[in-house]
Amino acid sequence: MTASLNTQMQAAVLESAGSIRIASRPVPELKPGMVLLRVRRAGICGSDLHYFVHGCCGAFVPTRPFVLGHEFTAEVVSLGDGVKNVAVGARVTANPARACGVCDDCKSGRGNLCRSTIMLGSASTTPPTDGAFAEFVTVRADQCHVLPPEMDDATGAMLEPLAVALHAVKRAGSVAGKRVLVTGGGPIGLLVALTAKAFGAVPVALSDILATRRDTARQLGVEATVNPASPTLADEVRTLTGDGFDVIFEASGARAALRQAFDLVRPGGTIVQIGTLGTEDIPLPANQLMTREINFVGSMRYGNVFDEAIRLVQSRRIDVRGLITGVLPLAEVGEAMRLAGEKTTALKVQLEIG
Ligand SMILES: [Zn+2]
Ligand SMILES: [Zn+2]
Repeated sequence: MTASLNTQMQAAVLESAGSIRIASRPVPELKPGMVLLRVRRAGICGSDLHYFVHGCCGAFVPTRPFVLGHEFTAEVVSLGDGVKNVAVGARVTANPARACGVCDDCKSGRGNLCRSTIMLGSASTTPPTDGAFAEFVTVRADQCHVLPPEMDDATGAMLEPLAVALHAVKRAGSVAGKRVLVTGGGPIGLLVALTAKAFGAVPVALSDILATRRDTARQLGVEATVNPASPTLADEVRTLTGDGFDVIFEASGARAALRQAFDLVRPGGTIVQIGTLGTEDIPLPANQLMTREINFVGSMRYGNVFDEAIRLVQSRRIDVRGLITGVLPLAEVGEAMRLAGEKTTALKVQLEIG
C-alpha cells in the first residue's frame, strides 16, 4: 500500500562537528518488508551529542553528512510489500537497531550483538545511516512496537533509552533485594536507577560529581546519592550497604568511575558497563576479578525488551516523564542540541517534528 506523499522532506543534517542545519532531503524509499514512518517526536541522545560536539561517536566516524536521531514516536504512513504486523495509522516507537536476523548472534537470541546491524542515525555503518531528526524515516516492519493509545508521544520517544536501561538491569541477573549503585546521573543512569528500583533493588543509590544531577535523582525517587569525589565516600557507602554494593551499573563512561566501581562492589558482586568509554585500553585491577570473584559484564543496547519497556511504563511501574527537560521544534535543532549539552540543567531534550 502506498500513500501519496511529497517526495521531499525537512531533515536536520549534521554536516560536521558543531554544524547541524535543516535541509530538504528526499523522503526515504519504501522497500519490501519496510514501513514508512512520519516522525512526531524524537529525543536527543548522548550519542547524538557526541556526533554534534566531536563529529564522531567513539570509533564511529561519519564519511558524509547525515541525519541524527534514533529515539522517537512516529505514525505508520505506508507499508512495503509483505508487511503484515503493523497497520497504516498505527502509532509506534521503533527499535532503531536493525539486526540481520540470520547470523549466529541473531539466531541465538542476541541480535543486539549482530555485527551486520544497521542503526538509525549512526555512523556505525559506512556510509552513515540517516535517522529520525526528519519528517520521515523507514524501518523494517519488525522494528516497530505499537504504543498504547493512552501513551503520549513524549513518553513513546523515551522507550528507546528505557530499553537500554532495562537490558542493562537484566544483564545483572535479578536485582531484587540487592544493594545497587548507578554511577552517572544522565538519562541512562537515571533510567537504570528507576528500573532497578521497580525490580525491587534496596537501596538504590546514584553517584554523580554534579550536585544538580544528584538533586534531580532524588527528586525522581532515587533514595540515596553520593558524590564520587567526596573524601567521606567510603564511610557513606559503608553506612548505605555495609560491605559494598551487590551490583554497580557504570553509566557515566568515565574511566575513574569504572575504576572506583571495583572499590565499591562487594565480594561476589557484579559490575555492569553501560557507559561508552573511549576506544583506548584502560588499566583495571584485574586480580580482583579472581580474588573477590567480581563479575564484570557489558551491556549493549537493548536485546528484545521494547514491549516489556512499554508495559513497565503503561503500568506506571516506571515514570519517564520527569526526565524530559525541554521540547523544541525541529527547526530549532541547533538550539536543542546546545540545550541538551548543558549537563547541569538538561536531561532529555526532545524535538517536536510532526
Ligand atoms: Zn539513544
Ligand atoms: Zn545478525
